[in-house]
This record gives sequence, structure tokens and C-alpha cells, in this order.
Amino acid sequence: MAQSFRKRRRQAGPSKNELKVMRGRPERQNTLRSRFPQVARVSLALRFTGERGQVFDEVRRVVQPDEGLDLAAACPGRCGVGNFSFEALVTEAVAVRKNLIESSAVCAEPLAPGLPQTCGCTLNCRVDIEFQPEPATPPPPPPSAPAEGSPA
Ligand SMILES: [Zn+2]
Repeated sequence: MAQSFRKRRRQAGPSKNELKVMRGRPERQNTLRSRFPQVARVSLALRFTGERGQVFDEVRRVVQPDEGLDLAAACPGRCGVGNFSFEALVTEAVAVRKNLIESSAVCAEPLAPGLPQTCGCTLNCRVDIEFQPEPATPPPPPPSAPAEGSPA
């Protein structure tokens, strides 16, 4: 089941928080561990294709807990301004401990201001999420032994 991408348009006036995300937070605040402590590893496979199926770019990346987590990608198409973000998808998947996301999105930025043609670059992405093992539930305390030989 393909979930739809949330695509960010520059013109939409990103919130202050989004700007902070895009402009690069200090590295230690942007690691996989700080973001999703319950995740052991994220594997990203991104493939950008043009309108005629030509491959612009392919990216494969494995993010370890101490590495920076970047959940957005600039459109490599001719628009020059498009930006794909899959942060919401990953956040949602982590929340329900889902291991695999497959999604795609088409860049709808105009090729040039005022032109009716849109970029049309397509991003197909697959994200594998490996979670830390669930914290083991502590064994139940031993049943308190009945007081034996208590003085009568
Ligand atoms: Zn584009």
C-alpha cells in the first residue's frame, strides 16, 4: 500500500521549525538516536527518475544511531527548487513500529516561473527501519514465601 508523500513547496512558507530542519541543526541534535531512540538503523533507498523514465540519481544510505538523519532530498530534476521530504512518513512509521515504507512522489514545481510545464521528476523511495529490541519486561517478583515456622 503506497502512502502518499508529503511534498514541501518552497513557496508555501515553511514554518520556523521546518526551516530549522532544512538549514541543518547542530549535528548532535540531528542524529538518528536523538530523533528516534527506539530505532537501531534506517536504510534509505531513493531513486529519482525523469518523465521519460531516465534515472537522474540513485541513493542508498544506511543511517546508524550516531549518524545524522536527513529525511529530505532536493529534486535533481530541471526545476532546481523541488524538495522531497519523507520525514512525516518515517515519523509515522516509527510511531507504529512499522519496518518498511515504500512510497513515491512526483515533483510538481514549474520548470520555470510562469511556465505551465511541471518538473515531473519522480522519487521512489524505500525505507527499512530496524528497531531496537523492546525492553524486556522484568520478571515478576518471586511470590513472597508464606511465613513458615512463624511463632505460634
Ligand atoms: Zn523538480
